[in-house]
Amino acid sequence: MQAKFLFVTIILFASCNYNSDKQTEQQKLNALAEKYVRLGLTIGQYDTDFVDAYYGPDSLRPKTKSATFPKDSLLASVDILKAELGTLAENVSNDTTRIRANWIIQQLTAFGRRIRIFTGELKPFDEESIELFGVTAPVYPEAHFKTLISSLDSLLPGKGGPVPDRFQRLANKFIIPKDKLDTVFRTAIAEARKRTLEHYQLPAQENFSLEYVTGKSWSGYNWYKGNYNSLIQISEDLQIFIEKAIDLACHEGYPGHHVYNMMLEKNLYRDRGWVEISLYPLFSPQSLIAEGSANYGIELAFPGTEKNIYTRNVLLPLAGLDSTGLDLYFKALAIKGELNYSRNEVARGLLSGSMTEDEALRWLMDYTLLNKESAIKSISFIRNNRSYVINYNYGLDLVKKYIGDRARWEKFGALLSNPITPDSLSK
Ligand SMILES: [Zn+2]
Repeated sequence: MQAKFLFVTIILFASCNYNSDKQTEQQKLNALAEKYVRLGLTIGQYDTDFVDAYYGPDSLRPKTKSATFPKDSLLASVDILKAELGTLAENVSNDTTRIRANWIIQQLTAFGRRIRIFTGELKPFDEESIELFGVTAPVYPEAHFKTLISSLDSLLPGKGGPVPDRFQRLANKFIIPKDKLDTVFRTAIAEARKRTLEHYQLPAQENFSLEYVTGKSWSGYNWYKGNYNSLIQISEDLQIFIEKAIDLACHEGYPGHHVYNMMLEKNLYRDRGWVEISLYPLFSPQSLIAEGSANYGIELAFPGTEKNIYTRNVLLPLAGLDSTGLDLYFKALAIKGELNYSRNEVARGLLSGSMTEDEALRWLMDYTLLNKESAIKSISFIRNNRSYVINYNYGLDLVKKYIGDRARWEKFGALLSNPITPDSLSK
């Protein structure tokens, strides 16, 4: 009996050795990366906002679907996969394999949180954002926004009246007429693309299509289709102010989301075969990098006064608008940019129940300086996307700090082409 037992053990041991010799660390990781993609696509069958883009193999798409959301088995799959990747990351000799494994682990933490959110199992705002996006955004008291508003008070004409009204009066001079939207947007995107091509070589077949849509909670969206193509949608529900032409051209297009997705697809998925990159889960740390870099892309492509100059010389004439007050408007917009953090506080308040919808509306109009129609949209965006709002402002600040002042395009290109996690931005 003893001899037989020994024999079986030796066989098992030998076959283990044989397998581990055959299967390299990278092959093991590739197999786990496929499981990650399958799991993400499975969650996306139920939570339709979960998968923002997928251009990987069709063979990884789920073939069956349960009648009800299989919460427990999905959470168990997340935990098992994280444990397998954790063991691999601890034992690998290759740094790249470890980086990939740790990147997928952080994405999976977000899967777990999103699965729970989808079934109404909620956590406080900061705990949610760290699990979904890898960071907690700074908290600002109302006094902080009041200080910013008082600096606008001394800047804007019409002393004495409420600052939000005076800001809206100035902004209303710069609404793009609907029949000029397409010309203005196409011109701004072409210019943003030209400026990006001065620094990066993009795939020859890269392209985008542009559509105008209604009934959305956002102002613009990039749907990345794979093979270096994007569908950029612009919402026509709201009045569109002139600065949005360059903002959306850079954010959704060049060097923002369209370029980010292309760099990942080209450098990591096509050239290196990293299948995990072919799935972009919206509620994940990847979105902090995506939104932060897309917003940073605006000031990268149009640094200093260049946005003002291009708007004055090219976009305003195309829109048939007068440039009187433009300098003042851009100064006010810079302060409005800092005020953007007030939307995080609105999200915190609304989601925790400490702020009513009326109070939220007042904050968005008084501090975020949105007009009423945009403030109403913003509340619906917060309800749909929750702590996602921090990715725009805190993401931008983290990316800005990470890039610094020198070799900005080079560093930005590297950020867009590597599996960077939010925690490494602040190191
Ligand atoms: Zn975006």
